[in-house]
Amino acid sequence: MKRDVVIIGAGASGLLCAIESAKRGRSVSVLDHAERVGNKIRISGGGRCNFTNIHVSYEEYASQNLHFCKSALARFTSHDFITLLEQHRIKYVEKENGQLFCNKNSLEIVHMLEKECSVLDVQIRLRCRVSDIRKTGPFIIATDQGTYQSESLVIATGGLSFPELGATGFGHRLAKHFGLKITPLKPALVPLLWSPQDLKLFSELSGISIDSTVSCNGKRFRGNMLFTHPGLSGPAILQCSLYWKRGETLVIDLLPERDAYELFVKAKDSKMEMHNRLSEFLPRRFLQKWFAAYCQSKPIRQYTVKELKDIAYRLHHWEITPKGTEGYRKAEVTLGGVDTDELSSKTLEAKKLPGLYFVGEVIDVTGQLGGYNLQWAWSSGYTAGQYA
Ligand SMILES: Cc1cc2nc3c(=O)[nH]c(=O)nc-3n(C[C@H](O)[C@H](O)[C@H](O)COP(=O)(O)OP(=O)(O)OC[C@H]3O[C@@H](n4cnc5c(N)ncnc54)[C@H](O)[C@@H]3O)c2cc1C
Repeated sequence: MKRDVVIIGAGASGLLCAIESAKRGRSVSVLDHAERVGNKIRISGGGRCNFTNIHVSYEEYASQNLHFCKSALARFTSHDFITLLEQHRIKYVEKENGQLFCNKNSLEIVHMLEKECSVLDVQIRLRCRVSDIRKTGPFIIATDQGTYQSESLVIATGGLSFPELGATGFGHRLAKHFGLKITPLKPALVPLLWSPQDLKLFSELSGISIDSTVSCNGKRFRGNMLFTHPGLSGPAILQCSLYWKRGETLVIDLLPERDAYELFVKAKDSKMEMHNRLSEFLPRRFLQKWFAAYCQSKPIRQYTVKELKDIAYRLHHWEITPKGTEGYRKAEVTLGGVDTDELSSKTLEAKKLPGLYFVGEVIDVTGQLGGYNLQWAWSSGYTAGQYA
């Protein structure tokens, strides 16, 4: 079958690219091996899809070249996506830190994309396995549903996280096959695992959540930190996982808005146990374990000034060295991907192979938590759709 454009991957970036390309009068087929389109959109944002963030800026992304994403993000902004939602009468709500979510659920966005594709005659082929891709003038794409021939080929196969939803390394393998470099890949926005020592100390705290500031590699994130049986999760930890490298230490401020030493000084003559003083601000169960691990809890007046200063310092600088991450099974995204040096930032076309485009998470552009990854998918899909 001859088409102008074949897109592999019917996720966020692939569908937006298909819509834009079809609007230019191109005949477009989207091939996906999954049973449904937009599997990750469906589960994103806990089923309500945190589809963008009104504070989108290149600084919210991690990439070997931070400037690469600027052009596409400027070309199709969060406001452009909001306009699309409003045209489809999809209601949304703003939550903390500029995050926008669907009022009802993420299916509304999936249906909107399907509807746009249908109106524009985009052909979507699901349960379609691609067995071979060659370039002999046009691209020849062999699948178990026939062979496609196209002038442009767009790879929108996403990252490696959540393999049960259809994620594969197809895009990375294909890029390598055509001689394009891939930056190192790792799971990100992912829970971290306790070291064996900390596992013994803290695994029983599973379910506790603490508002904290977590720092790693020069980045600081404020938010909840959630104790799980194998380690730590919650927004502040997930954000840090984007910058954390194996062997590195996280520094956690357990009382981000308070001066612990000042609290102790105010109570320095008190008979009150340290635990009890702090239980106004931190969960009692956590304090018991934490003091058992690092210092003795006794009536405040029995501490020396140096001891109080040490405890205060530790509460603001609790150091944790995770053993690793919970991996792609639990990661929201993959850090790394097709090296941005290989692509034009204006068109997202491979410099070495005209006609071949990459969009979305398969590229080495990874957003922080809060709608940035879907915005990158929309912006990059839109951009490539203007040329493919
Ligand atoms: C649990 C979870 C929650 C998330 N929540 C949010 C959120 O609220 N906000 C946010 O901004 N981001 C969120 N993300 C991240 C966001 O979903 C992704 O970054 C985004 O969907 C990437 O879009 P994409 O088009 O690049 O890839 P995807 O949406 O992953 O689409 C890739 C498509 O390619 C197909 N495919 C893969 N391999 C092949 C192959 N070999 N042959 C054919 N087809 C193939 C897949 O089936 C899939 O349909 C979340 C991710 C997860 C896992």
